[in-house]
Amino acid sequence: MTGYWRQEAGGLRIYQSPLLTAFTELRHGFFTRQGGVSSEPYRSLNLSLTVGDRRKAVAENRRLVQQEMGLTALADATQEHGRREAVVAGNPGGPAGELKVAADILLTDRPGVGLLIKQADCQAVLMYDPGRRVVANVHCGWRGQVQNVLGAAVTRLKERFGCCPADLYAAVSPSLGPCCAEFRHFRREFPPEFWPYQVRPNYFDLWRLSRDQLLAAGLQPEHLDLAGLCTRCRAAEFFSYRRDRVTGRHGTVIGLKA
Ligand SMILES: [Zn+2]
Repeated sequence: MTGYWRQEAGGLRIYQSPLLTAFTELRHGFFTRQGGVSSEPYRSLNLSLTVGDRRKAVAENRRLVQQEMGLTALADATQEHGRREAVVAGNPGGPAGELKVAADILLTDRPGVGLLIKQADCQAVLMYDPGRRVVANVHCGWRGQVQNVLGAAVTRLKERFGCCPADLYAAVSPSLGPCCAEFRHFRREFPPEFWPYQVRPNYFDLWRLSRDQLLAAGLQPEHLDLAGLCTRCRAAEFFSYRRDRVTGRHGTVIGLKA
């Protein structure tokens, strides 16, 4: 299932979806925690300014990511496990490219602008419409899944950019796998339609759930890609909130080449 390609560049280790790599006008990367400058417990490519790491270290880590992607800007927002969107229309302000908004759906059609989602177990789901040349990056944890943030992102792409769901491609990042996604209070936290995703008592396949939510939004099965890599299991490669609690955030980026 893990058909993603792994690249090493100057200490950085990056996964890529073969489905998205086929589009030469596109840049994307599922970054790991490796190759940055932060020290424990944020070692080393922590991209979040809100987890207690040094600002200077995070700024350098973001610079490394932007440089590796070959993009002119990197935009991110305050993630809040909701379904609000931000359309990045130009180069974002702020020294580290932070948007001063809360959003879990980032959209742009501007070449050179990278969209960054920060994670430690949550999914980042990349979307691309090759005809309209629009990219999206969606922060999708279980709370986002309960709100069907992926369906909301597809709707925004339709409304704002005229995208047709059947034309969209999507790739799900490394994230909490069915091996580790334990929800002891699932009856309270999940709607009954999620319960069939239970793979053994209290453990859920959130990867398959996202796949099904994307299909329900109108995407074609052959346009979907899934990393199949669990962040909690792979401590050397990924931050995991469930595993470590106080920890960093790795990042997933997509953008159109400048
Ligand atoms: Zn696992």
